[in-house]
Amino acid sequence: MFAGLREKLQAARDRLGSSLQAAAASQEPEGQAAQQAAAPGPVQEDRPDEGRPAPASASTGFVDKVRVLIRDRELIVSERDVADALSELEMTLLESDVALPATDAIIAGVRKNLVGKHRKIGESVDALVLGALKSALLEVLGSGFDLGGYIRTHDRPVKILFTGVNGTGKTTTVAKIGAYLKGQGFTVVIGAGDTYRAGAIEQIGVHAGRLGIKVIQHQEGADPSAVLFDTVQYASSHKIDVVLADTAGRFHTKANLMNQLDKIKRVMKPDLIVYVDEAVAGNDAVTRASEFNRTIGADAVVLTKADMDSRGGAAISIAHTIGKPLMFIGTGQAYTDIIPFEPAKVVDELLEGGA
Ligand code: GDP
Repeated sequence: MFAGLREKLQAARDRLGSSLQAAAASQEPEGQAAQQAAAPGPVQEDRPDEGRPAPASASTGFVDKVRVLIRDRELIVSERDVADALSELEMTLLESDVALPATDAIIAGVRKNLVGKHRKIGESVDALVLGALKSALLEVLGSGFDLGGYIRTHDRPVKILFTGVNGTGKTTTVAKIGAYLKGQGFTVVIGAGDTYRAGAIEQIGVHAGRLGIKVIQHQEGADPSAVLFDTVQYASSHKIDVVLADTAGRFHTKANLMNQLDKIKRVMKPDLIVYVDEAVAGNDAVTRASEFNRTIGADAVVLTKADMDSRGGAAISIAHTIGKPLMFIGTGQAYTDIIPFEPAKVVDELLEGGA
């Protein structure tokens, strides 16, 4: 997942480290810099964790090269020291389809964390760079969304409305989330609210049948608001924890689709509106999510097909751009191929994970 982005970010980490190493070397007292240049490697060994293995870096040789420790003195990093490396990072992020506002925020975060004085006794240059990249990325990725925690702390049934463009994996996502919630011990009912697309009712019925989840359905062409109203009624009378409402991804016109979603909102009063799109769509997914959030409103996002997405741009930018959390990512076609989006894990994987 996001292998291309991971590779590029790890290269950016190396590049920033080299820039800081050069800055550190230029600030060494006379003679020491030359000595360091002649003898790369751990040149100053007053690390508190001396003797332990070096922190993992995916790029071989890098740790050895830049483990120039900032000894018990200040390292002063100027804007100029990191300007080139930050421009490269900016290009890398844009090429990876990270949206411009998110790219700007990441660059600003890294700059803020690196430029200035550092008095981190015994900290390696690489640790400084890693910390700066991590916190900048975490700020942009937001907090994620703990769906299980949300359900546990809200009145049941919790009603979740799924919307999104046809073909992105919305129906499969409804089924996957049903399976995920069942696995967490919740009871679930699905409302077959896509009455527009031929075969949609049957499709969700097949998924639900395999997963042992009850589906409420009417015939093709029926009013989806009525289907979803009935689904909520069923959930209330059977003390079901969660209603998952599928909806159409397309209609005669966009205005009709919006009107229909408005009506569904009025009738079933969803607790959460989840926008589903595919990670592989990159910036297009971010733009669509943004527009959807402006017109209908969304509480969280699911990005499918992350397993097919090397660039990772949509996953990195969507929460920052629309101001709503990324809740899950789809990672394949099986029902279990869905994982809660946990920013800290993703950042670790991107910056430190192997191939
Ligand atoms: P909908 O029209 O948006 O409801 O889309 P579907 O749920 O019918 O999914 C469209 C296709 O995408 C199907 O072949 C799914 O198996 C596939 N799909 C859904 N989610 C994922 C995912 O996370 N990874 C991959 N590789 N395929 C997915």
